Amino acid sequence: MEPWRRELAAAVTDPAELLELLGLDPGLLPGARAATAHFGLKVPRSFITRMRPGDPHDPLLRQVLPLGAETLETPGYGADPVGDLAALRAPGVLAKYRGRALLMTTGGCAVNCRYCFRREFPYDSGALTPTRLSAAVAELAALPGLDEVILSGGDPLALPTARLARITAALAGLPGLRRLRLHTRTPVVLPARVDELLLGWLRGLPWPVAMVVHVNHPRELSPELRAALAALAGTGARLLNQAVLLRGVNDDAEVLAELSAALFDAGVLPYYLHLLDRARGTAHFEVPAAEAVALHGELAARLPGYLVPRLVQEVEGAPAKLPVTGLG
Ligand SMILES: *Cc1c(COP(=O)(O)O)cnc(C)c1O
Ligand code: SF4
Repeated sequence: MEPWRRELAAAVTDPAELLELLGLDPGLLPGARAATAHFGLKVPRSFITRMRPGDPHDPLLRQVLPLGAETLETPGYGADPVGDLAALRAPGVLAKYRGRALLMTTGGCAVNCRYCFRREFPYDSGALTPTRLSAAVAELAALPGLDEVILSGGDPLALPTARLARITAALAGLPGLRRLRLHTRTPVVLPARVDELLLGWLRGLPWPVAMVVHVNHPRELSPELRAALAALAGTGARLLNQAVLLRGVNDDAEVLAELSAALFDAGVLPYYLHLLDRARGTAHFEVPAAEAVALHGELAARLPGYLVPRLVQEVEGAPAKLPVTGLG
């Protein structure tokens, strides 16, 4: 087994252990246990070592720490906040926008992010077995004008590279395909995932590759992650970042500006800054649109244009991710 798979298998899943490793107040435990009844805790140990011990407000910890607040019902927050179920064409195929479609390769991720909009997505009914992979490719082939497939999930890099290779071998049968994109957070929480096997697979792909990573805070850009990103860029893949604007994590112009600068240092261009999708249990992460627009304006006033991510939100039925204007 590749070393990263062993590391992933050893991820912390017990809230009591997470609190203990970081020397945090055991009083947080009942809330954490209540929250994990809905959505489990999962965080690789190497990511925990990047958190500040004894600080319950650490921005990396906030993204993974289950809180009692997740069990509160908030009007407007639901199980399928962006209309994924309606856009599901075949098991594993999500087609919302012209020319590109998402292939959901697995329900698993290397980390469980508390703000995730797919917390309650019924992945089990869509796992990509070999039979379903052929059905998914047939569905992709039938989409008019499709020239880009996006490997998503869950997180495609939570799968062994051999599985990814089987998927891209099946995609090679799509004549109109011009680009392959991957959306992944795995390298951020588990840089060891970027091993020679993965790099070899990427180098051997017949299409130009875009890889969209998911870094929310500049402190996530560890030396290990920067080395992994350099290796990924070395395969010829174009690296982009999407972040989610999160209360208590990165809702600060200084932090966002540093994130953009640190991403550029690591060879990654900022792509999207998403407003939170209203998934049940995530209301405590919300930054209202008006405040988001003000933060984004501050970023634009500080940074060169190419380091300002597009502030967007996903609106069900829209033809693309929509720019956030703060009106409405
Ligand atoms: C977000 C998303 C995409 C990608 O949109 P881009 O604007 O091209 O980054 C594609 N398909 C689905 C279903 C999506 O949710
Ligand atoms: S890695 Fe992405 S899909 Fe997985 S839990 Fe985090 S935000 Fe959700």
